[in-house]
Amino acid sequence: MESGTCKEVFRHPLHPYTLGLFKSVPRLNEPKGRKLVPIQGAPPSLIDLPPTCAFLPRCTYKIDTCLKEPWPDLQEVKPGHCVRCYVTPEERVLNKDQDHNLLEVRDLKVYFPVMRGLLRKQVAEVKAVDGVTFNVRKVKVLGLVGESGCGKTTVGRSILGLYRPSAGQILFEGQDLAKRSEKAMRETRRKMALIFQDPYSSLDPRQKRRKYCQ
Ligand code: SF4
Repeated sequence: MESGTCKEVFRHPLHPYTLGLFKSVPRLNEPKGRKLVPIQGAPPSLIDLPPTCAFLPRCTYKIDTCLKEPWPDLQEVKPGHCVRCYVTPEERVLNKDQDHNLLEVRDLKVYFPVMRGLLRKQVAEVKAVDGVTFNVRKVKVLGLVGESGCGKTTVGRSILGLYRPSAGQILFEGQDLAKRSEKAMRETRRKMALIFQDPYSSLDPRQKRRKYCQ
């Protein structure tokens, strides 16, 4: 996927797979407590390689071309440094923030059962959220807009772990929230907050705005 001298590849990794590998390497010069981010998913079977790029299902940099075209050839991007990828080094640098996804919601579904009768038998289900996908990158703001009752609050509550998703994944700092222990989840919730629409029930008017934005 990428070839070059050790020094060049370690100093200037370019292929999304190499970038992913380096994110999971512990470093002495990084702040204590930094979480190692694994590459999600599994490599494809070697006896059934896809016609497209083998890293496609796990790549966060993919573009439309990657979905349609066969696996690209190795291309020399610098003397002696070759990469097998459709995304150019400039685009990779521009998209490098994709490494900094704070929150990833993938195909989230939250269905509530409708129970009836003496035996509380499930007779139907309400699809409050049905296949929602979005990313929130660090230091970015995302607005989720929709009519009343469309499931915005349910999405928020599911992210906080107040509702258990029926399907889909919620990744916070690259970690699947569904796989976290209750103790780890309590730690994670310290980094999240639900701010209600009525500012007086969410914010203290005696505090400065800056305090809430930090
Ligand atoms: S070719 Fe596309 S899918 Fe493959 S590594 Fe590059 S950006 Fe990702």
